[in-house]
Amino acid sequence: MSTQAPAYELSEGVRRFLAAPKQLLIDGEWVEPVDGRRFDNPDPSTGETIAQVAFAGREDVDRAVRAARRAFEEKRWHGLPPAQRERILARVAELIDEHGDELAELEALDCGKPVTLARRVDVRLAAQHFRYFAGWPTKIEGATLPVSIPNMHVYTRREPVGVCAQIIPWNFPLLMAAWKIAPALAAGCTVVLKPAEQTPLSALRLGELCLEAGVPAGVVNVVTGPGETGAALVEHPLVAKIAFTGSTAVGREIGAKAGRDLKRVTLELGGKSPNVILPDADLDRAVKGSFQAIYYNTGQVCTAGSRLFVPKQHFDDVVSRLAEQARAAKVGPGLDPQTQIGPLVSREQEQRVRGYIERGLAEGAELVAGGDGEKPVEGGYYVNPTLFVSTRDDITIAREEIFGPVLVALPYEDLEEVARRANATEYGLAAGVWTRDVASAHRMAALLEAGDVYVNIWGPSDPSAPFGGIKASGIGREHGREGLDAYLETKTVWVNLA
Ligand code: ADP
Repeated sequence: MSTQAPAYELSEGVRRFLAAPKQLLIDGEWVEPVDGRRFDNPDPSTGETIAQVAFAGREDVDRAVRAARRAFEEKRWHGLPPAQRERILARVAELIDEHGDELAELEALDCGKPVTLARRVDVRLAAQHFRYFAGWPTKIEGATLPVSIPNMHVYTRREPVGVCAQIIPWNFPLLMAAWKIAPALAAGCTVVLKPAEQTPLSALRLGELCLEAGVPAGVVNVVTGPGETGAALVEHPLVAKIAFTGSTAVGREIGAKAGRDLKRVTLELGGKSPNVILPDADLDRAVKGSFQAIYYNTGQVCTAGSRLFVPKQHFDDVVSRLAEQARAAKVGPGLDPQTQIGPLVSREQEQRVRGYIERGLAEGAELVAGGDGEKPVEGGYYVNPTLFVSTRDDITIAREEIFGPVLVALPYEDLEEVARRANATEYGLAAGVWTRDVASAHRMAALLEAGDVYVNIWGPSDPSAPFGGIKASGIGREHGREGLDAYLETKTVWVNLA
């Protein structure tokens, strides 16, 4: 039954944070946007406004980038001894842990994700990310090179690229901010981060925690605003590198601008990931994992396993088990500790997802679960876990990224065919396979065109494991050594010893 939003008691820390005006973090100070503009930040669980957030215009972006550039030129950060940078980054991780409950609450409030999951996944991984990258400043090494020119001493230096523009989406706001800021700081860069307009709060809080940990003023700057704020940041001439996570459409635009201006760029974009159950799979495990693969975070995950390929002989069984789980899932507000599936992030996203569901019906897919239903809280942006079955891979819902809780199950008959169908997409972010056979697992892992392949699991993440896409899912990798390399330039020094 649809109800009014229950009143959840917010913690002292979150109440204090929300009571303070939401400003821009520039050069270590909280500042008002130049023209004083603000925008509403609604709670997706209820539709009610949580905060009025500063709208950074071109001038504000310019101020932030110049502050970051000044901090870089003055070597406020990369001039510190590596061991000191390590201590400060580790301190950021500790502060995230110490404020974990508060950050989880803020995340649940701002993007609607279940508070228990926000604490267990987003906050924990964000701290883990800073802790991992804290280890790098003391280990960034160049090399001495065995050139064949006599009397020549040649070595490489690994240097930070400079000011980084970092633009992140709304599905994992705190974690995406950590994925961006931690490697950039480990490399010695300075950053201007723009969180998504739908979910700006945890990035602002993280900026505050960075300052508290001892990150010098101007090294981490946070500007809030919509796409046009992001565009101003991308176009700024003092930006040396752009790191973007978001839609493929915006990624293409940013990539084109970066190419024109010869800025370094990494892009983590969309997906339409195939999830393949092989005939010998442990079906209990495969069904459980495939449910998580699509419905986790209400399907708002770039790696969501949104195309499920099931062998014909198991099709009805798998579909009926998934449908049963989808109907039983507890959909509710983010702050409710019982909630398993929260709302979508915005009204716009809810409408988009509903549009896809209508399109699925119109194009002849059979709806097995979800699709409509009463909202648990009036005014919230809820869509129930939805399951379609279809024999056609070419319908819109089996081709386009929906970014919502909508799964299409597709039957198949032979293995050669399923790998070909799995790869028949412009995307290549993630793919999964469920099997008990080691040889099939590795054969499929080699055949599937994706940056990440999961075997008998879906979507694990660790700061040491490279993550990113091929094809239209992006350029470059985050995490691990490769993630760090994206923030470093190599300088070769030739010394004539003759
Ligand atoms: P979605 O469609 O899922 O909201 P977007 O790719 O539009 O994903 O948004 C991801 C991030 O990119 C957000 O922070 C958004 O404000 C920002 N953004 C949107 N348009 C642009 C743009 N033209 N240039 C730079 N950043 C942008």
